[in-house]
Amino acid sequence: MELNKLTAHQLLGLLKEGVIKSSDVILALKERIDVIDSQINAYVRKNEKIELSYVQNGPLQGLPVAVKDNICTLDLNTECCSKILEGFKPPYDATVISKLKSQGAYIFPLKTNMDEFAFGSSCENSCFGPAHNPWNLEYVCGGSSGGSAAAVAADEAIFALGTDTGGSIRQPASFCGVVGLKPTYGRVSRYGLIAFASSLDVIGPITKDVYDSALILSIISGYDPYDSTCVNLSVPDFTQNLSKDIKGIKIALPKEYFIEGLDKDVEQNIKEAIEVLKKLGASFTEVSLPHTKYAVATYYIIATAEASSNLARFDGVQYGLRINSFEGDSSLLQMYKTTRAKGFGEEAKRRIILGTFALAHGYYEAYYLRAQKVRTLIKKDFEEVFKEFDCILTPTSPTAAFKIGEKIREPLKMYLSDIFTISANLAGIPAISVPCGFTKKGLPVGLQFLAGYFREDMLLQVAYNYEQNTIWHKMKPKI
Ligand code: GLN
Repeated sequence: MELNKLTAHQLLGLLKEGVIKSSDVILALKERIDVIDSQINAYVRKNEKIELSYVQNGPLQGLPVAVKDNICTLDLNTECCSKILEGFKPPYDATVISKLKSQGAYIFPLKTNMDEFAFGSSCENSCFGPAHNPWNLEYVCGGSSGGSAAAVAADEAIFALGTDTGGSIRQPASFCGVVGLKPTYGRVSRYGLIAFASSLDVIGPITKDVYDSALILSIISGYDPYDSTCVNLSVPDFTQNLSKDIKGIKIALPKEYFIEGLDKDVEQNIKEAIEVLKKLGASFTEVSLPHTKYAVATYYIIATAEASSNLARFDGVQYGLRINSFEGDSSLLQMYKTTRAKGFGEEAKRRIILGTFALAHGYYEAYYLRAQKVRTLIKKDFEEVFKEFDCILTPTSPTAAFKIGEKIREPLKMYLSDIFTISANLAGIPAISVPCGFTKKGLPVGLQFLAGYFREDMLLQVAYNYEQNTIWHKMKPKI
């Protein structure tokens, strides 16, 4: 039995029966990584020591979890795949990590590859080089949580944590043919997540199937006094209602998401998915989310504004890289400048400049404040729809994965690949991407469901019913 190919819930069954030990799982993953990760590059800092004898008893029984490089792990490098954080070892665990540890998870010491500071949609903006799509190594795995999605898809991880500011869990999950869940803003603590855009960032699971997504969400959710935006709501066991049927469930199809530019193969797969759901008893109605067309512009003002402010702390003084003197000038100001000039990559610099501009005196009202107002309109569009409907269905991304190098020189094109995912972050609602087929080139396609605030139960139920009546989650890349 190849243990690395199993899901968390399958492995938990075997661990409970005593048929296997967690160390067997860890060894299987290590062997898999040794064989293929030089081609995929899902993990960074591959020489970290893996604890092969790890045994733990809590509910997760020592199962290993792969963690994105922007989530703080005690004494384990956390660098956001940026040179500026080189060597940074957090003195504490993020809340999601403490929660997983307290349930008996093993925090895998190799962190997953990502776009620097989560800026990107292709995992090409990493100081460790791009991660590759396991379905075709010439293609991107999506971003920014590309390493997490690629690791899960290639059976180099059982499950992983990603983060989603504008689609970074769902888009790579769809490109790699796995399940990615972005929880409601406030459902999961952000304490210990290195901030990109604090009003949009969320941590969520990337898994091989919907059951695992529900399982991991139940563990990482919940109130945290260390994050003032984390909501004090009781956390249900999300695995409980998965198999409840979806007869009579009302699903909305927003017309703004079925537009020109939507890849034909993607469209075809989505249409077939709708037919499957109809057979299961769901009904579909076309609706309008009229402010959708402003989402990309609104997002790139708010996200860059918040990023420029969050990244101001990386100046060579407290964290990571410090370059002391430059051409004989050893002043403090010169140290800041050189460290930032050498430490940040191109996309990070672009965002810092854009964001600083949007917040500048004289422009603040025209850009940032205006964007916040449009954000409210986008949120209201969703609230209107959820008065009548249980969830919304859309493609996760307008295309399947694109080739490495194809969009990296054209930031605007790259930004447009988030067109279907960013509205959920602006509104703060939960969303999930599940595999729904393949393009003619053999690349996975993702289907997205969105639901009202804190209705992850609804998302998971619909997604589970769909998944259990299709074969897509069982398909594996040939690598
Ligand atoms: N691709 C989007 C961006 O570059 C979203 C990234 C994310 O969700 N972290 O901003």
